Amino acid sequence: MEFKFLMPTKVLLGVGCVAGNKEEFSKLGQKALIVTGRNSAKASGALADVTTVLDEQAIVWELFDQIEENPTFAVVEAGGAAARRFKPDMIIAIGGGSPLDAAKAIAVLAVNFISASELYKGDFQAAPLPIAAIPLTAGTGSEVTPYSILTDSERQTKRSFSDVRIFPQIAFLDARYTHTQSRAVTVNTAVDALSHAIEGYLSKRSTAVSDCLALEAIRSFGRACNALVLGEFDISVREELLYTSLLGGVVIAQTGTTAVHALGYSLTYFYQVPHGRANGLLLGEYLRFNEPVVPQKVEAVLAALGLKTVDEMKVLMSRLLPSREVYSQEELHKFVAIASEAANIVNTPRQPGKEDLYNLLLQSLTCKA
Ligand code: NAP
Ligand code: FE
Repeated sequence: MEFKFLMPTKVLLGVGCVAGNKEEFSKLGQKALIVTGRNSAKASGALADVTTVLDEQAIVWELFDQIEENPTFAVVEAGGAAARRFKPDMIIAIGGGSPLDAAKAIAVLAVNFISASELYKGDFQAAPLPIAAIPLTAGTGSEVTPYSILTDSERQTKRSFSDVRIFPQIAFLDARYTHTQSRAVTVNTAVDALSHAIEGYLSKRSTAVSDCLALEAIRSFGRACNALVLGEFDISVREELLYTSLLGGVVIAQTGTTAVHALGYSLTYFYQVPHGRANGLLLGEYLRFNEPVVPQKVEAVLAALGLKTVDEMKVLMSRLLPSREVYSQEELHKFVAIASEAANIVNTPRQPGKEDLYNLLLQSLTCKA
């Protein structure tokens, strides 16, 4: 047996974990740039909790609340410029995956005079500012990954840059902050977490340790599944989903994502399909495609969800994600061409050719005749 396992983020999960561990902020510095989206940090109560503990400890802070969904190079460069003006010694990221990922880029740009596209060269000199992450969705697990996914409009896709130095130093997971999510955001983000667990479990880079975590994440999703179908979320379901998401993040930090994410980026880029939904639409056929090379793993995924067949998995996904978008076959070819260039496609256990990717899309999506 041979593997590497790295998860350097300190994780604090529990109701009231921000106020209950306020000294953790002063360990990171005395001046904080808080990075958020436009509304959810305020609506969820997380921003008020954070600024209260910062004020109590005389930590100076400024707010950058301009992060939109699927953050662009332009918005992280604006955040980087704000950071270079304010000169914080830490970044506090509060939000779904979009603000968390943007904050990671801003933590680098705050101390390196480079453009956002240069983040992908992987050779920035100065160590990024330390990051405290507070997720408001239960989906991406970005609070425990070394990835930041930005929209690259030149390449017409979303791309991830990775560096161990952008793992958040600390993550505060309080399920109360996820209460204000709409049902759609709750379901979409939960399916993203499931997708991380399934892709990570099947990934060529999976290890004995990541497999344990992935199976537990899938079982955790299974425990919350009924509530997701019904759209009824109490605090224990919210906490379960935050746990699913956390484990999914730890898994992909080891294994990377695979063809599902590679293809899903195009649905988001060209059709504004929410990230988790994009993955979920493809998951059933992805299992079917990989079944011949990893049959036991596919069986274990289904069993962990209490399902017997891939068709049952497709029924579950269609209940959670009713069909909406209609694609043309020409567009599918464009998505295949873009996904074929994605770095994560090679992690797929059964290596897909272009025709395989096209068929996977065709079987998964509603297409014009
Ligand atoms: P998101 O894009 O951060 O947020 C989606 C929407 O939900 C926004 O309108 C947001 O509002 C709202 N929202 C978030 N939390 C809320 C809350 N508690 N209450 C009310 N509204 C809330 O969604 P996400 O799915 O978490 O993140 C997706 C992004 O993460 C994608 O760019 C994806 O590529 C990336 N991702 C990253 C990783 C990684 O490892 N780094 C892994 C998977 C995915 P506001 O705009 O007001 O905040
Ligand atoms: Fe994802």
